[in-house]
Amino acid sequence: MELDFGISVDIGPTLESISTDVLCIGTGPAGLAAAIYTARAGLDTIIVGKKSESYLGKGHLIENYPGIPSIKGADLLEKFIEHTQKFGARIIETEVTDFVLGDPKLITTKKNAISAVAVVIATGKGTARKKLIPGEASFVGMGVSYCATCDGPLYRGREVVAIGNSNEAAEDLLTLHQMGCKVTWILDDPDGLKVSPELVEEIKELNIPIIETAVVKEIKGQEKVESIVIENDEGEKELKIDAVFVFKAIPMTPLFKKAGVKIGGRNCIQVDRMQQTNLSGVFAAGDVTCGGMQIVTAAGEGAVAGMNAIKYVRKQKK
Ligand SMILES: Cc1cc2nc3c(=O)[nH]c(=O)nc-3n(C[C@H](O)[C@H](O)[C@H](O)COP(=O)(O)OP(=O)(O)OC[C@H]3O[C@@H](n4cnc5c(N)ncnc54)[C@H](O)[C@@H]3O)c2cc1C
Repeated sequence: MELDFGISVDIGPTLESISTDVLCIGTGPAGLAAAIYTARAGLDTIIVGKKSESYLGKGHLIENYPGIPSIKGADLLEKFIEHTQKFGARIIETEVTDFVLGDPKLITTKKNAISAVAVVIATGKGTARKKLIPGEASFVGMGVSYCATCDGPLYRGREVVAIGNSNEAAEDLLTLHQMGCKVTWILDDPDGLKVSPELVEEIKELNIPIIETAVVKEIKGQEKVESIVIENDEGEKELKIDAVFVFKAIPMTPLFKKAGVKIGGRNCIQVDRMQQTNLSGVFAAGDVTCGGMQIVTAAGEGAVAGMNAIKYVRKQKK
């Protein structure tokens, strides 16, 4: 899809397209608090994220959330979720894989292509992968992808590699093969295979090449991905490829930078007192901004982001 300001965004044909007033990215206290405000104000609100990955759910016993003297983190998270649903917000359990944050904002997830008037980024600090492959960040959107369904069709008939060692990664690898990509599976996990025997069997039966116990040393290219350098027992080699699909936790910072979101020290999104980022209609809240790094501060920042998203949507729709 080519946008009128000259940026193209890769939206695969199999993704469900949705439009919403507000998209909150993150199912932790920041994203959910923002959604409570926007949904209660009558705005169409979608929340994207994986609740199992919120830091809140990992807190064993929470004793500093005002009004609730003692509660398990998972139970408090459930209360936040129920509260958003009371006002009609819709939660989609998936991950954002790319976005273009102009007007409108176009967000790609593993399941949908979402167009939103305002966006609240509340992705926390917990899940993003910190150790990137050298070269990975430079080629996001130019041959480095995190989503088979979104970008696989772009590489039909071309040489690609898939890196990842989980059942989800193996399923994504099979999706690429089904889409007609010439895919090689690179296993770079020193702890060995973590994929179910059935999936491994299926991959072997399809004669998908597998490179085991490899260290991925670099993704190379000029303007886009051209090759990948790997090392294993057989030594170091450079494979000519058109794309690298990294099926591991998605590192958010390169995606934010690519979308033009201003990042400050400690890889935190810079916001003003309205939780507004440098991009119009794009707000950020919670740990991703390195605020108080607490549940109550994340929820408070989410509430401020939600209130300002409401004003922004009203002005846009005038
Ligand atoms: C073990 C532990 C104990 C803690 N105890 C306390 C305590 O007692 N009191 C206290 O106040 N604080 C505590 N904290 C800190 C608190 O949990 C966090 O400050 C708070 O959860 C931050 O909220 P958040 O919404 O910013 O991020 P999180 O709650 O971390 O939520 C981030 C969300 O972003 C989503 N996300 C990330 N990447 C993507 C993507 N690509 N696409 C879509 N969604 C994405 C995740 O799925 C997740 O839903 C604790 C933290 C931990 C780890």
